[in-house]
Amino acid sequence: MNKRAVILLSGGLDSITALAFAKAEGYACYSISFDYGQRHKTELNAAQRLAEKYGVVEHKVIQIDLRTIGGSALTDDIDVPEVAQEGIPVTYVPARNTVFLAIALGWAEVLQAEAIYIGVNAVDYSGYPDCRPEFVTAFEKLANLAIKSATEGKPIYIRAPLMSLSKADIITHGTALGIDYSETISCYQADAQGRACGQCDSCRLRRQGFAEAGLADPTRYQ
Ligand code: ZN
Repeated sequence: MNKRAVILLSGGLDSITALAFAKAEGYACYSISFDYGQRHKTELNAAQRLAEKYGVVEHKVIQIDLRTIGGSALTDDIDVPEVAQEGIPVTYVPARNTVFLAIALGWAEVLQAEAIYIGVNAVDYSGYPDCRPEFVTAFEKLANLAIKSATEGKPIYIRAPLMSLSKADIITHGTALGIDYSETISCYQADAQGRACGQCDSCRLRRQGFAEAGLADPTRYQ
């Protein structure tokens, strides 16, 4: 049996690059997306298309409505800002990566997967606490205390291959691994056709990344 990995796939630029890293490591890839009440469902469609295009074994969409909790511009009635803010931005979704990784961990144990890949990044990460290396290290420790297979001598690894890369480096690596970014959606408020606003923090970082990588920006803007 090929070694397996579960990849958190959002439909964005970072997570598809994380998947490309997992494939390059020789993993049979199982991708997971979350329908969590985000503003636009187009990213879920993008994740589905990307999963098919890049040959994952199985793609799963989990329904978990984080609007019940609220507290974020992505899940509550709070505007997405068009200028960079002080501190942690309102687009932070309370405990999102903890919740997502916990569910991915359950699936990984069922699959007897060796690793979970998450496309978090500490360079251009906008200040989200659940994108820090300390968080990933701590979750890996928790994971190995939490699951039955780890107590039976089969540890699980949480991989964050983009952690120390700039957006430009991520784009350069992903392009070299054969990723076409035209189908990815990074915008916090993409329209129903998946076209980006060009104004939000995520759009700004992405555009800057393509410019610094010296590559044409394939993003479809409104
Ligand atoms: Zn945007």
